Amino acid sequence: MAPSAPGRHQPPCGRCSPTTCCARPGLLGVPRPAPPGGCSPSRGRETSPTRFLSARNIRSLDESWCAHCPGVLETDAHIFSRCHRARGVWARLGISVPDAIVRRPWDIGVNVPLPDAVRLDIVLLILWHLWKCRNAVVFDQNDSGPLDVLTRVDRDMDAWMSRYRKVSPSVQQWKAWLNHCASASPM
Ligand SMILES: [Zn+2]
Repeated sequence: MAPSAPGRHQPPCGRCSPTTCCARPGLLGVPRPAPPGGCSPSRGRETSPTRFLSARNIRSLDESWCAHCPGVLETDAHIFSRCHRARGVWARLGISVPDAIVRRPWDIGVNVPLPDAVRLDIVLLILWHLWKCRNAVVFDQNDSGPLDVLTRVDRDMDAWMSRYRKVSPSVQQWKAWLNHCASASPM
């Protein structure tokens, strides 16, 4: 007989329905939602608001701040537009990215006088590396500057060049432009 999941036979917390008690994992071992106010301190698993939120993958407010900007809520607009790290990258490229177009990457860089065929690919690559830059700070405490971000974009363009054979000249033009912007003095 297969062993049952840990906690399956744990007694109910006393505040929920015995069949759906939050002190017992569900059929797949996923914790059940707790009743309003949390579980009974003596029987349930949550004993503090922090643990209660953590168990449900809900971050407390101070953990929702930008890793670069303490006290500033980390939204998508902040990460990709307002944060100084993002502004540094966009400033190097001379591209304006207001909040409103963060969720419309196809509208980013429309004024750059380069082939439009791969513009969205390049923009998505830049956004991807801004996101990775944010993750490196959050998870590895490893900060990097705008030049590092652009260098990684350039490296990825090299790595993916074989997938862009038909538009290789366009990619090369963007690559040369990125390198030119990266090597130019900061504004
Ligand atoms: Zn920030």
